[in-house]
Amino acid sequence: MTSGQTGKVWFVGAGPGDPELITVKGQKLLAQAGAVLFAGSLVDRAATLYAPPGCVIRDSKDMTLEEMTAWLIDQTRAHATVVRLQTGDPGLYGALIEMARPLSAEGIEWAVVPGVSSAMASMAAAGESMTLPEVTQSVIFTRVEGRTPMPEGEDLASLAAHRTTLCIFLSITLMYKVEAALRAAGWPEDAPMLVVHKASWPGEEKILRGTLADIKQRCREAGVASQAMIVASPTLGALHWESLVRSKLYDPTFTHRFRKASA
Ligand code: SAH
Repeated sequence: MTSGQTGKVWFVGAGPGDPELITVKGQKLLAQAGAVLFAGSLVDRAATLYAPPGCVIRDSKDMTLEEMTAWLIDQTRAHATVVRLQTGDPGLYGALIEMARPLSAEGIEWAVVPGVSSAMASMAAAGESMTLPEVTQSVIFTRVEGRTPMPEGEDLASLAAHRTTLCIFLSITLMYKVEAALRAAGWPEDAPMLVVHKASWPGEEKILRGTLADIKQRCREAGVASQAMIVASPTLGALHWESLVRSKLYDPTFTHRFRKASA
């Protein structure tokens, strides 16, 4: 780059693990990147697969937030395209705003390329739907309190009272808290639950099904204690239900903008 110009930082969602689940736009940006800062061991495959020869590739796992932003700012002085590669979608538990603020403060342009969240990939892996007509039409992305405190009103028991689909991030080592919250909200012991470990990772994905009563034991038996999505949802297992309310959109007796009802 000519002196005086600065590059742009792209926060790119790498997707849940399978390098083919990055977006076309994310892949194109990696292919033209001068520098890539990737998040730990989670997304290195995409970085190494798609970044061009000579690209500066740095793992951020041992860096503080200040070191990461300083690195990104530094790289924009030498490269037009600088990529911060994050797992799943950058806007979910990704410290996006903390990283972006110092860039804005320096007058450095930045933008976000969304990614396939592990919540989506986990449900896809299990062949499950997050919503079903007349069962639930809402999804909550949340976590239980660990070292990061939960804001008031967002404790899992309160959220679980809605009986919607709950995608619970960052909580696999705190399964006992998840279970206690669901019980406090009145979920029955036979409520279906799903845990997906390393969703979409070729050869490493594990799909565990159970109930509120036994899911913790299933995780223990399978040795799943990290990188896992917990899903509690009244939609789970619907493939095998005897009856199912149809989606109006595809119902032959339902007229909408693009199709007239058939008799
Ligand atoms: N931005 C990411 C989430 C980062 S927080 C996203 O959109 O997916 C890290 C948490 O995400 C993990 O604790 C785990 O709950 C979940 N996670 C990330 N990758 C996963 C994967 N491949 N399979 C299952 N869960 C995953």
